[in-house]
Amino acid sequence: MNDTLQKFMFENAGVRGELVELPNTWQQILANHAYPPAVRTVLGELLAASALLSANLKFNGTMIMQIHGDGPVKLMVVECDADLNLRATAKVREGAVIADDASLSELVHGQGKGRFVITLDPNDKMPGQQAYQGIVPLDGESIAVVIENYMMRSEQLDTKLWLAADAQVARGLLLQKLPMNGGYQTSQEMSLEAMAEHEAEAWNRAISLGGTLKQEELLSTDIETLLHRLFWEETIRVFDPQLPKFLCNCTREKVGNMLKMLGEPEIKTAVAELGRLDINCDFCGKHYGFDAVDCTQLFVASSVAEGIDSPSISQH
Ligand SMILES: [Zn+2]
Repeated sequence: MNDTLQKFMFENAGVRGELVELPNTWQQILANHAYPPAVRTVLGELLAASALLSANLKFNGTMIMQIHGDGPVKLMVVECDADLNLRATAKVREGAVIADDASLSELVHGQGKGRFVITLDPNDKMPGQQAYQGIVPLDGESIAVVIENYMMRSEQLDTKLWLAADAQVARGLLLQKLPMNGGYQTSQEMSLEAMAEHEAEAWNRAISLGGTLKQEELLSTDIETLLHRLFWEETIRVFDPQLPKFLCNCTREKVGNMLKMLGEPEIKTAVAELGRLDINCDFCGKHYGFDAVDCTQLFVASSVAEGIDSPSISQH
């Protein structure tokens, strides 16, 4: 089974949809970590959601979803770029005991202090250009509900998401009501009211069909079968499938920059204590070693040429 994202559209109905399945990407993410099942579920759902939302963006850059948790999960990060290259990681607090059925809010928002931030980081930033950041209120019992609420509030877009992840696969379905007239064509004259009613009906039908999808079914069924099983009575236009994949763009230079950001005194102390610094990428597990000479050079180089990237939580 390959990783696939399938866009489709309800003909003459103003509803678009996407199905995504990520067996390989998800396996590569899980290969580097042993997450408790509840954390794995939420991270996988976040991964599927980020692919679904990214595929809808006309944006040349990376979408970064970060949840800074106040509970047993300290951090979750999922990144997806315009080519649907994905990577993800989660940090669980040391010693945390997590029930297999822990909810999203128990994991990251138990004290009401969790923060969910979506950043759109453009590839070719103009000088002074900032990445766009949106704060997503953690006001729902699942990633799907939280994102649906956010899409409604920030984009005024009716969106429905079905997300699921287990040890094998992360899968998701997105349905979205297009703004009035979007994708709607008719040869007949139709009043605006009639059109609005027609589109509302189509939307309600689409989400009630989607609503028949059970978590188990989503986990156990490939998206081609799902598309047919859910919407066989509808006239659906299917687009060319896209191929998401795992990709980590970590480099020795980025890790070096991260070390520089910690400051020379801190690094000197750490090297004196440990002899060398060994850093593993949180996303792909790749190892980067910096001995005493490497560490000294970091700061020599930075005093010669100030080429430090601005700090970013996603960098490492
Ligand atoms: Zn990496």
